[in-house]
Amino acid sequence: MKIAILPGDGIGTEIVAEAVKVLKVLDLPFEMETAPVGGAAYEAAGHPLPESTLALAKAADAVLFGAVGDWKYDTLERRLRPEQAILGLRRELGLFANFRPAICYPELTHASSLKPELVAGLDILIIRELTGDIYFGQPRGRRTAVDGHFPGAEEAFDTMRYSRPEIERIAHVAFQAARKRNRKVTSVDKANVLETFQFWKDVVTEVHAQYPDVELEHMYVDNAAMQLVKAPKKFDVVVTGNMFGDILSDEAAMLTGSIGMLPSASLNAANQGLYEPSHGSAPDIAGKGIANPLATILSAAMMLKFSLNQPEAAARIEAAVQSVLSQGLRTADIHSEGTRKVSTREMGDAVVAAVTAGVTMTKTIKG
Ligand code: NAD
Repeated sequence: MKIAILPGDGIGTEIVAEAVKVLKVLDLPFEMETAPVGGAAYEAAGHPLPESTLALAKAADAVLFGAVGDWKYDTLERRLRPEQAILGLRRELGLFANFRPAICYPELTHASSLKPELVAGLDILIIRELTGDIYFGQPRGRRTAVDGHFPGAEEAFDTMRYSRPEIERIAHVAFQAARKRNRKVTSVDKANVLETFQFWKDVVTEVHAQYPDVELEHMYVDNAAMQLVKAPKKFDVVVTGNMFGDILSDEAAMLTGSIGMLPSASLNAANQGLYEPSHGSAPDIAGKGIANPLATILSAAMMLKFSLNQPEAAARIEAAVQSVLSQGLRTADIHSEGTRKVSTREMGDAVVAAVTAGVTMTKTIKG
């Protein structure tokens, strides 16, 4: 098994170093190779996604990605900006399914902006279609309007579109994921207004016929945005298109309090995946050693589960994270009175220690 390690910019290098430390103590037969991406790659090779980095990502079973971006690159032409690397990887690897779990650990309920009773025990999964919809639909551009409210005026336009196979494959991903959880899928659309999402709803309903053991509900996106803050625990798996998913997954992220805790996975049809924290490169705290590495460590656990077929190792990491939280260790972003503030490295070391303790225990039990 080969893992491409792409730390990127800002806190990316700090948090990925901690995740790599955790992966190493698992003592599993995988090879890790590091390459630059984002601003770091632009500095080193003149492009945010150099050929050699892309080749490494393509050849690997999985990619562990930190984050890219820095305000200093904002003036570069668009194709050279760090964020283009992530779009390029999604496109080149065909990563069409984005998984974003939103889990609220009991120790962190106070960090949510919602009342603790609404989020305590929250465990939902947002599945966002990642390569279609209005973000990629053609044609798009600017032109002079020939009709509409202001003929002759300058206007801009995008195209929302989904093909049957695109909807079918993401629907299958959602129903299969639900089978491993609480067997409920909420498909979010805007079928009352948009042709594309009436089609989405029809196709999801057709695919559902193959999963009679999974409950399917349809919900309009405006209602879903409301329900996520009103009664988030009613959801299990939420599946939706690229744009609605972009917005709802960030909303769901905030239910859990800290973006520093949230992993994500983007998978292709061969289960090859890119795993990254849900947050960005946080240039405001980069280099200070205070970033929370847990989202990246949990992304590594998702990688073991989804792409590397090592569910036991993944569970060991997840248990270790839970254990360091119950020990009261907190990085600055989740710190509160009565807990111990630790640095990025100390948090990584604590997870390594907990994983190691778990490994010893398993060995003792098996022996
Ligand atoms: P951000 O997620 O980097 O930071 C938002 C806030 O959350 C900041 O205050 C930051 O300090 C804090 N934060 C983020 N991660 C944290 C962590 N692990 N521990 C503690 N605090 C954390 O978003 P932004 O500031 O809007 O963007 C910064 C840069 O990141 C931009 O260049 C943006 O384009 C890029 N970005 C990259 C990705 C990616 O690589 N996938 C995603 C989002 C943003």
